[in-house]
Amino acid sequence: FWSGVEMGPPDNIFGLVEAFKNSTHPNKVNLAMGAYRDEYGNPYVLNCIKKAEKIILDRNLDKEYAGMSGFADFCADAAKLTFGEDSPGLSDGRIATVQSISGTGSLYLASTFFAKFYPHKVVYHSNQTWGNHAQVFKSAGLEANTYTYYDKSTCGLNADGMLKDLRELPSGSIILLHASAHNPTGVDPTQQQWRDIGKVLKEKGHLPFIDMAYQGFATGDLDRDAFAVRLLEREGLQPVVTQSCAKNLGLYGERTGALHVVTASKEEKDRVMSQIKILIRPTYSNPPIHGARLAVEVWRNKDLYKEWLAELKIMSGRISDMRKALQLGLETNTNRKWPHITRQIGMFCYSGLETDQVTLLREEHAIFMTKDGRISMVSLSNNNIEYVVNCISKLLIM
Ligand code: PMP
Repeated sequence: FWSGVEMGPPDNIFGLVEAFKNSTHPNKVNLAMGAYRDEYGNPYVLNCIKKAEKIILDRNLDKEYAGMSGFADFCADAAKLTFGEDSPGLSDGRIATVQSISGTGSLYLASTFFAKFYPHKVVYHSNQTWGNHAQVFKSAGLEANTYTYYDKSTCGLNADGMLKDLRELPSGSIILLHASAHNPTGVDPTQQQWRDIGKVLKEKGHLPFIDMAYQGFATGDLDRDAFAVRLLEREGLQPVVTQSCAKNLGLYGERTGALHVVTASKEEKDRVMSQIKILIRPTYSNPPIHGARLAVEVWRNKDLYKEWLAELKIMSGRISDMRKALQLGLETNTNRKWPHITRQIGMFCYSGLETDQVTLLREEHAIFMTKDGRISMVSLSNNNIEYVVNCISKLLIM
């Protein structure tokens, strides 16, 4: 049956993870994968989640299906967390929320909704963006194109270029934005720049499509990381927001997240909701239940919620400590300035290393990172930082 099927290329990131697993190098380091590690490099299950898991187990709950849109409590809390308690859309009851298969599933679901109901079929995303974005949009039947974002010369944001491109795109274009902790560059607009972006989006009637994979994980502050989403919603725009609980609750493999579509009225919300359910039914029918139960337990249990906030600070604090250590190590050893390492934010550092240097690091030192030189900061730990600094430095002063 399948003799004509050609071998497909490995996924950029999961392919590297596979190569990392197969490496026998004693000091091998996986800087490709974005999943939080503790200071010893071990996977980290949040304490609030461990406690929630026990509480839920003791309740002896059934394993019946959730509805097509997921658990109502999860959707209500996820929307509040995203848009804030005083969101106009929430108080008017005009935000359609469904539980999703984490951030990726939410992006895909939103894309299939656009493909079916929105007149524009192109998603414009920042140049650069997360490697999976364009693949998701294309596999949902949309096209992917870019707007200016990253400025290689400053390792920062080209704000003028971005605003110019947004102004020049056809009115009503779908504009993909990263809510915070831009992946892969770690470069976020300032709050003033977000206001400028919001103004152009509004003038042009663009549709903001906001990917929020790192709320609370970027700065340790849930409200600050949701600034862009809340600003745009309060400015009267109607963002579509994809929310992931993978990073901030450490629920990577539980595939927990939500899709929110802000609409113009409650009646419009009901219509949108009905169509999203029609898209869900033949694809996965209903979302996984365990992660959503854990999230709700953490969000509604005062003690667990408090512990969660503290753990968000621990995780984001450790990333920031590793950024400082990497910058200091490289500046000491290479006699160069590396200010962008601590200026950038979130899980990834866009190091500025070139593809051939990335290849050498992998082949000679078993340090694995994506070919754009993106370093997963969460994979750096007290156990490997010295090795990584030394290998990069050696390469640069060769
Ligand atoms: N968006 C961005 C920008 C991401 O970095 C990620 C995860 N790396 C996701 C979405 C999706 O993650 P998940 O499907 O695990 O929630």
